[in-house]
Amino acid sequence: MRIETLTALGMGVLGAMIGSFLNVCIYRWPRDESVVRPRSRCPGCGQSIAWYDNLPVFSWLLLRGRCRRCGTGISLQYPLVELATGLIWGLLAWRHGLTLAALMGAVFFTLLLGITMTDARDYIIPDEFSIGGLVLGILFSLPGGFPVIAHALIGAAAGFCLLWVVGALGTRIFKEDAMGGGDIKMMAMVGAFVGWQGVLLTVFLGALLGTLIFVPISVLNRKRLVPFGIFLSMGAATTWVAGPTLIAWYRDFVLRP
Ligand SMILES: [Zn+2]
Repeated sequence: MRIETLTALGMGVLGAMIGSFLNVCIYRWPRDESVVRPRSRCPGCGQSIAWYDNLPVFSWLLLRGRCRRCGTGISLQYPLVELATGLIWGLLAWRHGLTLAALMGAVFFTLLLGITMTDARDYIIPDEFSIGGLVLGILFSLPGGFPVIAHALIGAAAGFCLLWVVGALGTRIFKEDAMGGGDIKMMAMVGAFVGWQGVLLTVFLGALLGTLIFVPISVLNRKRLVPFGIFLSMGAATTWVAGPTLIAWYRDFVLRP
């Protein structure tokens, strides 16, 4: 087996283990609970889960999604988040090797996955993901020296200000809080990773996806809360992968007709 393939597999396994921890964060941070203790327990019988029943993806498959002791169902969300995080870490290592760019991308996508899940389940974006992620994004820029650090800081400021202005306008127009504080802090984090041009593209894509996907659903379900963090996460992920291409295309074809 080639060394690159082995590296990608190893990072994929590490990612699945991080995904296992991410599940705990997704469940506990919106409830202000510690992610360190107590250990994970079965919600049915309270039995703490042994390490061999807590292996990412495999344990869920072996137990067929049920507690070993009482048979209470374990949500499909757990293996899916572990699988997704494993794929994120494995694919980025495969694409970029063992580099800072790969690590930064893997951390960014893991944060976006966490935000998507908490916003979908609880309509909350925990500060641990947004503010904690902002700190990580700035730390990742440090080895690049002044231009890269400035890029991250300006991006964070742009994300914060743009969403704050959109939120303030929305409150004026609709007479209710259109944009949660969580979305504003989240976009400061996104800006630290993708820069101010990436912020503009993320918000544009997020609004587009939100309109295309959420408006039809909300008309059917009559839901009023908008988990906008989900669409901003999709926009930010697209920006990370295709942003430079999309921005160059925009510059060449739209600004210079
Ligand atoms: Zn049980």
